[in-house]
Amino acid sequence: MRKTIDILGIQVDSIEMQEAMEVINNWLTEKKTHTLYTPNAEILMAAQRDPELKEILNNADMLVADGAGVVLASKILQRPVPEKVSGIDLVKKSFTRLSKGRNPYFLLGSKPGVAEAAAVNIINEYPGVIIAGCRNGYFTESEEDEIIEQINASGAAILLVALGAPRQEKWIARNKDRLKVKICAGVGGTLDVFAGTAALAPEFMRRSGFEWLFRLYKEPRRAKRMLDLPRFMARVISARLHGG
Ligand code: UDP
Repeated sequence: MRKTIDILGIQVDSIEMQEAMEVINNWLTEKKTHTLYTPNAEILMAAQRDPELKEILNNADMLVADGAGVVLASKILQRPVPEKVSGIDLVKKSFTRLSKGRNPYFLLGSKPGVAEAAAVNIINEYPGVIIAGCRNGYFTESEEDEIIEQINASGAAILLVALGAPRQEKWIARNKDRLKVKICAGVGGTLDVFAGTAALAPEFMRRSGFEWLFRLYKEPRRAKRMLDLPRFMARVISARLHGG
């Protein structure tokens, strides 16, 4: 039975990394294709303006609290999630906990060459992990059938979709019924991190909730979008005060 918390109308799982791994492990033994997304404050805010995204998130099998903003929101709403479970940490943990020769991964997304570079680094760093295939994230709708076939033919059990939000969530929702994988996970810029084309914030910043500042410094083009962070907090405080 899922334990979730309602954050601005979206049911986010109140779950620790360890428990999340156990749930994912169980999914791998089932027939159904499960969906997992890693919403941060920006995505939860985008979902306020995009009913389709909101519905997709609420229909997911697991939504982990990715980011200090979501964790803080859960505290303000007096239903604190046990910890932050970021997409990158979840994927890394899955490499050490789940695989070891089973459950091949397919990497879909990022610029040409990035998924392949990520695959090489993953295989080197996590011996035993099998990468069944890669495909960059720049394609037209007419190429989708062929991509689905490629993923299904690869025998992958876990599909990591790194197309950016909300593209990846919408892509998964649209195609999940045609996929034979056991798990589809939206993982944002994770492949860039594994490939070394994007840096992760230093550990002290990640732990103290200032990851957003690092991203702003690295990618100033995000400034406008990041205004959603204070907007998100304001909405959460208002929900707490007015019980909405
Ligand atoms: N991306 C992709 N296809 C696209 C647009 C983006 O594969 O059509 C990839 C991009 O190369 C990057 C990841 O999605 O690896 C995240 O992109 P971005 O930083 O623009 O998205 P956000 O951080 O907002 O989720």
